[in-house]
Amino acid sequence: MIHNFNAGPSILPKEVFDEAAKAILNFRDTGLSILEIGHRTALFQSVLDEAVLLAKELMKLDGDHEVLFLHGGATTQFFQMPMNLLNENQTAAYLDCGTWGTKAIKEARVFGNVDVVASSKDKNYTYIPKGYVIPADAAYFHYTTNNTIEGTEMYSIPETNIPLIADMSSDILSYETDYNRFALIYAGAQKNIGAAGVNMVVLRKDILGKVDRKLPGMMDYRKHIEAGSMLNTPPVFAIYVCLLTLRWLKKIGGVGAIEKINRAKADLLYKTLDEKEGFQPTVAKEDRSRMNVVFLINEPELEKKFLEACREQQMIGVKGHRSVGGYRVSLYNALPLESVKALSELIYQL
Ligand SMILES: *Cc1c(COP(=O)(O)O)cnc(C)c1O
Repeated sequence: MIHNFNAGPSILPKEVFDEAAKAILNFRDTGLSILEIGHRTALFQSVLDEAVLLAKELMKLDGDHEVLFLHGGATTQFFQMPMNLLNENQTAAYLDCGTWGTKAIKEARVFGNVDVVASSKDKNYTYIPKGYVIPADAAYFHYTTNNTIEGTEMYSIPETNIPLIADMSSDILSYETDYNRFALIYAGAQKNIGAAGVNMVVLRKDILGKVDRKLPGMMDYRKHIEAGSMLNTPPVFAIYVCLLTLRWLKKIGGVGAIEKINRAKADLLYKTLDEKEGFQPTVAKEDRSRMNVVFLINEPELEKKFLEACREQQMIGVKGHRSVGGYRVSLYNALPLESVKALSELIYQL
């Protein structure tokens, strides 16, 4: 058995792969591949509608939020969001907690002013800043809920009256939280929702239409809402994989059920790393991510043995991000507890 700890694109449920493979050959007994049906057919419309409905249901969204499936990954949202929400003379507040947040800040500066309210750069982003003040007159407050590269995660939602915006690419739908408190959420699909090539944007309409600049159609959220995510050809197959993954999540009991499993996986792995001599998690205990576990191995000999054992036992994707070094083990929704048990045993036996 392969244990897939990849950071993204990453593991998806086996049944999602089976269903997706079937749909490539013969989609819903039409004799056609999902790759060759028109996106404006009733067939695909039903895929999109169900994916939107399931996303709303799993996030327990009230009636005020729209769910869009757009192109360009989370990286496009780094600029599309401020383009829609930030006037040139306005200031947006950002929390600087890692590589992705830093990129989001850089892109926002193209459109207006950015006030970085707090940063954990002083310690290589190994903790989440606390006690900062969010200015009440900023256009919005943006933060990254899970720092995929550095391995920190923010479970509690900051208190503020200004619109809250979050990049949830790597922990969306992994634990119960009040998604309704956010004015806008975006997430690349390839970590917890589905296949690369699509991202989900959840937003409240009332925040739109307030900027002075002209927007290209493809960049305008209002146009995407009007067109129901079909302003142009959507990433049909990637959206279908999202639908299958959302169905799977609902079937196993929804976000509350997966949260329990995710906690069990993270608890076991951190316990193992804390107990085993030579292994050293890099993140402050209270800010440890349940999705991406980052650690160092202090002895070169132990490191070699660890890598060899991983190779032998088909544990893949454990190498840390090139900017951080060390190791990173990703525990996204679809990763079974068995894989973490196997990794834990491997580490104890070194
Ligand atoms: C992976 C990731 C991104 C980048 O996503 P793309 O789809 O490659 O643009 C952005 N933010 C976070 C938190 C991520 O984990």
